[in-house]
Amino acid sequence: MAIDPKLLEILACPLCKTPVRLTADKKGLKCGHCRRIYPIKNDIPIMLIDEARIEKKPKRKAHA
Ligand SMILES: [Zn+2]
Repeated sequence: MAIDPKLLEILACPLCKTPVRLTADKKGLKCGHCRRIYPIKNDIPIMLIDEARIEKKPKRKAHA
């Protein structure tokens, strides 16, 4: 199953309002501006800043 392209068109990063794009593995939606990747769970994009991960070296502990 894939995300509805019409849905993708209206999705944007909740932080910086930049339209997000599907990642290569189709498991997330990436904001090209702040580099956050929002997860897709059960074909539903989770557009929450708290759920997003930032594309860079993973930290051992998630500590904000
Ligand atoms: Zn963003």
